[in-house]
Amino acid sequence: MTQLIKSKIAISAEINQKIEKVGYDSGFSTVSVIAIDELKTLTSLPRNYTKYLNSNMVGDMTYLKKKLRYFHRPNEILPNVKSAIVVAMNYLNQSSKQDWQKAELKKLDSSDTGYVSIYARGRDYHKVLKKNLKSFANKISMIIGEFGHRACVDTVPIFEIELAVLGGIGWRGKNTLLINKDNGSIFFLGVLLVDYPLQSKKKITTDHCGTCTACLDICPTKAFLGPYRLNPTRCISYLTIEHKGIIPTELRPLIGNRIYGCDDCQLVCPWNKFAKVAKLSDFDVRNGLDNAELVYLFSWSEAEFRERHAGSSILRIGYQQWLRNIAVALGNVASSKNGNRDSSENYKDDSKEKIIFLLKKRISESSNLVGVHASWALRQYDSKV
Ligand code: SF4
Ligand code: SF4
Repeated sequence: MTQLIKSKIAISAEINQKIEKVGYDSGFSTVSVIAIDELKTLTSLPRNYTKYLNSNMVGDMTYLKKKLRYFHRPNEILPNVKSAIVVAMNYLNQSSKQDWQKAELKKLDSSDTGYVSIYARGRDYHKVLKKNLKSFANKISMIIGEFGHRACVDTVPIFEIELAVLGGIGWRGKNTLLINKDNGSIFFLGVLLVDYPLQSKKKITTDHCGTCTACLDICPTKAFLGPYRLNPTRCISYLTIEHKGIIPTELRPLIGNRIYGCDDCQLVCPWNKFAKVAKLSDFDVRNGLDNAELVYLFSWSEAEFRERHAGSSILRIGYQQWLRNIAVALGNVASSKNGNRDSSENYKDDSKEKIIFLLKKRISESSNLVGVHASWALRQYDSKV
């Protein structure tokens, strides 16, 4: 009997090893297998998550409510689900230099250019991960035979980070993101739910944040309520991407030149010195989005917006939200030039005139959403609408 159990374990270990190998071949940096039964170990998650959902911090992210339902009934996502294979894919642009964190932080002081979160500068990660998960599943079928599966990348309501923690991929840092000792946090997570019984291999990784509080201290909008606790409605990533409406006036100056997402709490994380560049060129920067001038981006017509962001996740926020975000950043150029941020730069009157001209144009041409933010931006220049 013991011999039989031993040989079963050996076969499972061998299958896992083969799955990991084909996972790396499919472009992933980390692969971890979890038996769905392991989810039972997350006993406090439903309670804490319900508390979070009942707070007023969910904002426009009403889809989060679905997650809890599916946590209790994973079979509704994939009938007869037995295991989850969690994968991570590094996305740091291939041309990034060793001191990329410093270089990115510097961009936040350059008020004339827009800051786009690193993950969104290239091809839409949903598309990349889905494609690679599909090819991964095909390779797995060569190992275990045909099986049912579902590729999950953000749009399926599962707890990816908790699964990744269970799979030993990393720990949830004080900035609430998953951190891996060998790759930092600059990676995407994807999950392949499968109806084939696989054995969990890894154990939970312990927390290595220690006494560090760099992420909590740097946050421009003070979005952290404390370690591991984020109020997303103050987070710039939420405000510029998930939030569809008017950005609260008091938060606009704190957004600076960030026009799509925010990386600050990752840029200062010491573990990100271990971040690795992407294996794939899909995440290469498009449209110069790592250093594009705000006036240039603000001048795009809707057709240009659609054409230039084709295949990018930015397309999903829509043209009006895109303009809204840039209008806020343009308003913030005024205070930086007036000496609040980089007083050493000469304030060029022609660039000021150009910004004012463009803002006025947008007010007359665009939706109320853009108009409200463009009017606010104009007021930062003491200019009348
Ligand atoms: S992404 Fe930016 S705004 Fe959001 S919590 Fe991190 S540092 Fe704060
Ligand atoms: S910055 Fe420090 S505290 Fe924040 S996640 Fe990284 S290691 Fe943890």
